[in-house]
Amino acid sequence: MSDEITITFLGTSSAPPQIERRQSSVAIKYRGNLLIVDLGEGAQIEMLKNKISLRKMTILLTHLHSDHTLGLMGLLTTRNFFNIKTPITIIGPSWTSKFLSILFLAYRFRPEFEISVKETTGGTVLENKDLVVKSFPVKHSIESVGYIVETQPKTGKFNPEKAKALAIPRGELWKLLQEGNSIDIDGRKINPEEVIDKIPLKNLKVVITGDTEFDENVIEHSKKADLLIHDATYPPEETERATKYSHSTCTDAALIAKKAKVKKLVLTHISQLHSDLEHSLAESKKIFPNSILAHDGLRIKIKAKD
Ligand SMILES: [Zn+2]
Ligand SMILES: [Zn+2]
Repeated sequence: MSDEITITFLGTSSAPPQIERRQSSVAIKYRGNLLIVDLGEGAQIEMLKNKISLRKMTILLTHLHSDHTLGLMGLLTTRNFFNIKTPITIIGPSWTSKFLSILFLAYRFRPEFEISVKETTGGTVLENKDLVVKSFPVKHSIESVGYIVETQPKTGKFNPEKAKALAIPRGELWKLLQEGNSIDIDGRKINPEEVIDKIPLKNLKVVITGDTEFDENVIEHSKKADLLIHDATYPPEETERATKYSHSTCTDAALIAKKAKVKKLVLTHISQLHSDLEHSLAESKKIFPNSILAHDGLRIKIKAKD
């Protein structure tokens, strides 16, 4: 079974949208799980473009500023329109419940599906057989959290040679064993342990900060992440402005990535003040070479290695 996380950037602009950049939103897919982190204006359009279904998802809000939430009501309304009944969970910082109640009242909106709302200031917000998602507080102008998405550690790896030796036909039966099920071939029972080698597979870690100023606490939470998605609102020279508006420069983000020893950094929440994006990226790379600049539609796949 492919063991990879797919991250799709649906919006990569700071608050004022740009022709080529919509407001913040990121989709994270792993096995049957879809996490949507923030829903800026127009996120639904990017979901359509990227063939992301509205059916089953968990929404993670980093904070309630409008450039991270304007797309939320649109998405919920579309679910009603298409009569989608699967329940949905919305996780966000304190005030998320109240925020939703006010929006529903203002729009006279009645969801025709179940919505569970969880507020968080830190700690585990979601755990299933595939993933653990935790939040941590970040420094921004209102209550805000970042999210850590980690795959559950695997203890085994499917060994095709063993499957062949046991004369198990390739295809559906292999898949069932890979997923941890026992199978039956003409009365012969085969357990997954017979074809799975006990090799610990590394779990994958993706960290997304949302809007944050330069904050040493982010280092601890991002330690050795496979991917760090960090606020990079301003170019390197705009340090004063970054502090004033509780955002980061791209080089702040690079410094955090370097100190946290992450594998890859994606700079996002890009404002128009980056008059020369190549310069911004080059300066970031001087500090952390594996930096890349997000753009709408950017897709990154991260694979678990043995
Ligand atoms: Zn923002
Ligand atoms: Zn903000």
